[in-house]
Amino acid sequence: MHVNAVFFDMFDTLLLLESDKIFYAPSLRRLCEFLVEKGINVRFERFERVYFEVRDKAYSESSKSLEEPHFNVRVSKTLQRLGYNFDVNDPVVLGATKAFADEFMHYVSLDPDAIYVLRKMHHKYKLGLISNFAIPECGWKLLEKFGLKEFFEVVIISGEVNRRKPSREIFEKALNTLGVEASTAVFVGDMLDLDVIGPKSVGMKTVLIKRRPARENTCVKPDKVITRLRELLTAVENF
Ligand SMILES: [Mg+2]
Repeated sequence: MHVNAVFFDMFDTLLLLESDKIFYAPSLRRLCEFLVEKGINVRFERFERVYFEVRDKAYSESSKSLEEPHFNVRVSKTLQRLGYNFDVNDPVVLGATKAFADEFMHYVSLDPDAIYVLRKMHHKYKLGLISNFAIPECGWKLLEKFGLKEFFEVVIISGEVNRRKPSREIFEKALNTLGVEASTAVFVGDMLDLDVIGPKSVGMKTVLIKRRPARENTCVKPDKVITRLRELLTAVENF
């Protein structure tokens, strides 16, 4: 097979993210501190409880609809439940999201192979990135911070298009932007249900980067499995 394009997932593929058990509480605490500074009268424990109720409801809705409302929507809804009416575009909501994102960014690092692999690949193939992330502006900042932006001809972050992986549309949009046939494109990511099922459904080839022992899922088979990003070069050459 002749490979024209390689698409990457972002978190735990090119950028490594510490477990949500580690980053969530401090990021949410920063968000809550910002709100308190803006005159919202709430204790962190209560804020956290209400936030997670709102978030979990949003997660369960988006797992069915495959929509990706911006993180601001979650913040606005949490405030509403606490008795404060702020529109999703209110500066208080935008500032709260930014406070969360600024803290969250401290828990993200660059995979040591990422730049090497992207440099090698970007003269050979068209490169793209498709990420599920409800704070797209933070996604762009991370790409900039780690010097990844320049490698990609297309970047799609779910919160920007209100569609998330594994929806077909997000992959089709990326393929159309590059003018590439699905059958000549490869997707590489770390999650079977997002990064293998989704791209397979539109006819792309898939490479799973195995970051952790995955639950057995006999229904979904990636075309290739790698354990380090560096192995991707050979994997793609041998399609
Ligand atoms: Mg990922």
